[in-house]
Amino acid sequence: MKVTDHIKKAKGKTLFSFEIIPPVKGKSIQELYDNIDPLMEFNPPFIDVTTSREEYVYIDRDGLLDKKLTRMRPGTLGICASIKHKYDVDTVPHVLCGGFTKEETEYLLVDCHYLGIENVMALRGDAMKEEKYFAPTKGGHLYASELVKQIQDINCGNYLHEMIETDNCSDFCIGVAGYPEKHMEAPSLKSDLKRLKEKVELGADYVVTQMFFDNKKFFAFVEAAREMGIDVPIIPGIKPIAVKRHLQLLPQVFRVDIPQDLVDAVEACKTNKDVRQVGVEWCIQQSKELKEAGVPVLHYYSMGKSDNIKAVAKEVF
Ligand SMILES: Cc1cc2nc3c(=O)[nH]c(=O)nc-3n(C[C@H](O)[C@H](O)[C@H](O)COP(=O)(O)OP(=O)(O)OC[C@H]3O[C@@H](n4cnc5c(N)ncnc54)[C@H](O)[C@@H]3O)c2cc1C
Repeated sequence: MKVTDHIKKAKGKTLFSFEIIPPVKGKSIQELYDNIDPLMEFNPPFIDVTTSREEYVYIDRDGLLDKKLTRMRPGTLGICASIKHKYDVDTVPHVLCGGFTKEETEYLLVDCHYLGIENVMALRGDAMKEEKYFAPTKGGHLYASELVKQIQDINCGNYLHEMIETDNCSDFCIGVAGYPEKHMEAPSLKSDLKRLKEKVELGADYVVTQMFFDNKKFFAFVEAAREMGIDVPIIPGIKPIAVKRHLQLLPQVFRVDIPQDLVDAVEACKTNKDVRQVGVEWCIQQSKELKEAGVPVLHYYSMGKSDNIKAVAKEVF
């Protein structure tokens, strides 16, 4: 079922969902299941599975370093299929511009359709680790908006090289990313919102936000988006801080602010176990306020671990 239909069916009740990342290549999927199992009691209508960009690795061949391009966490679609099958829950693969040609994307979308996957999250992806700026893959897309258009084209039977008359078209429900504190490359929040609107006009059905730790920023973002005419559901994505290092890492990687009260509380912790508790408590307060405000879904970034998400969900759902 489509994410937007799950939201309609819930009739104003806030739903619980979360995002997972595929295991590192060679690791078992069991660890993923072990972390999903405890969260299923909160009835997520959908689970997102991220896609990671390719990266360079250096292989030592008799003292000479061989530079190879590889994907450290492959298997997004396989994981989506296995979770859907095992838990009977909708899964949302993240589809990236970076690292994929349009042909490969078409192939992936055809696979999604055959697997009964009805939702996809259309994302540009970040720059590769070695690169300062995002560079499109040869034969790939530059912006997520172009990817949204390709998915909508396929929904209408317009494939890359042929228009196909079929009674078996896909009808993907398309999610896109939004940034309450603006995307790091955007010159202003307003221009970023204009880009978000373009994605919606091209066919995006809902928005999931980047993590944030101050609900006021989310509420202001939604208000500005609505004023601009963005009328699709906006789903807040949130994450409990889990280790002290997150105070530096999260602002650096995701360009998000951490409120001073939370910084102070984390800095006062003696152990990471204490930090985890502080992170959970902050996230519970955030979640309760967002739920009270009537958000359609609370979407948690689990980063593969579920104990803290479960501690939050138990208090909120
Ligand atoms: C909910 C969520 C899930 C994510 N999942 C993943 C994942 O699984 N894997 C992963 O690698 N990354 C993921 N990301 C990170 C995401 O890929 C990065 O934030 C990326 O840098 C931007 O992606 P986007 O889809 O927002 O890009 P876009 O919408 O293309 O925007 C990128 C930048 O370009 C600007 N822009 C857009 N269109 C134009 C235009 N026509 N002209 C000029 N500027 C323009 C925008 O304002 C923005 O600054 C996720 C992010 C979120 C919020």
